[in-house]
Amino acid sequence: MITYGKQSISDTDRLAVMEALKDPYLTTGPKVKEFEEAFAKYCGAKYAVAVNSGTAALHIAYMAVDLKEGDEIVTTPLTFPATSNAALYCNATPVFADIKNDDSGLIDPEEIKNKVSPKTKIAVPMHYGGLPADLEEIKDIADKANAFIVEDACQAHGATYKDSKIGDCKYSDMCCFSFHPVKHMTTGEGGMVTTNNRQFYEKMLALRAHGMERNKDNFKVKDEGGWYFEMHCLGYNYRLTDFQCVLGLQQLKRLPKFVLQRSWFLAQKYDRAFKDFAGFKPSTKYFDRINSHHLYVGLVKDLETKKRLYQHLKEKGILCQVHHIPVHTHPYYQQLGFKNGDCPVCEDFYQRAISIPMHVELTSSEQDKVIEEIKGGLK
Ligand SMILES: *Cc1c(COP(=O)(O)O)cnc(C)c1O
Repeated sequence: MITYGKQSISDTDRLAVMEALKDPYLTTGPKVKEFEEAFAKYCGAKYAVAVNSGTAALHIAYMAVDLKEGDEIVTTPLTFPATSNAALYCNATPVFADIKNDDSGLIDPEEIKNKVSPKTKIAVPMHYGGLPADLEEIKDIADKANAFIVEDACQAHGATYKDSKIGDCKYSDMCCFSFHPVKHMTTGEGGMVTTNNRQFYEKMLALRAHGMERNKDNFKVKDEGGWYFEMHCLGYNYRLTDFQCVLGLQQLKRLPKFVLQRSWFLAQKYDRAFKDFAGFKPSTKYFDRINSHHLYVGLVKDLETKKRLYQHLKEKGILCQVHHIPVHTHPYYQQLGFKNGDCPVCEDFYQRAISIPMHVELTSSEQDKVIEEIKGGLK
């Protein structure tokens, strides 16, 4: 079976994890900091906080700016539900701004402008499939609305936007990543937030470990003893283990190659194959940014065509996916008052979009088969 996404674990990766299991610390040890520092350096950010999922990354980033009841976040409906679920965890209200009408899948800055209000605390662009959102325009709008920006970069490791690498937080306050196995690099489960803001950094360190304060200078009670710590806010157990961080360090070393393989070799081969093929149109490209291609998304005529293609490919041993079911159309969100028709451009995009296999273990002959079967299935 050829799947749309898959991890790549080398023998060296495996050996490093085996060795790490001999370390005295399995969690809260030195490998966590080492991974954070290496990841921050890769992105070009000052700080990074490792957590045990991309969802936890979003949650502590939202909590770092004190997102709470009565506040709103403005985000895209074309995302994994975690983006807005994390706002619900804070009892805040997600507001969905429709995507651009250009088949890129990106949130529309004009729609963000229409949706911001005095209640807007955070704008959350998601870099769809690895294609960075319009960060400059979004920053402009957020600054005027006095809102923070948290990037959902769970699909965009190694992508770049103009002169900025995703994760350097040049256009945002914080940037969230996931290390789920289908993403560009993996720790099994895992996530990371990058930031250049020391206050957010320290707050997030506390939030991922029960809200525990570690800095003696900030204690309310002094000289209690060496065992002493204080809890200053309500945090969670969002810690990533040391052996996962060791896998993360290994994967991070391979990340530049992974990104090159996806965005250069695999994506360009698909681009060439579908260039003059009318039935399957690759999602829109932008030439001022690098799509690091977590996904390769193609658009077909309509939902019926997509269903037929999906089934045809499945019968041929090729398992595709669809990214994403518009969040506001999920029954849970409909219960909260969201309706079909709220974001018509996104709903139309969803009907036509299909993600075809894109991962670094995909061989050239497998890719040939995918191309052939897509063309065959759409005849
Ligand atoms: C994968 C993903 C997440 C969630 O990450 P987990 O590590 O699975 O919690 C959030 N947002 C987007 C856009 C994602 O693709």
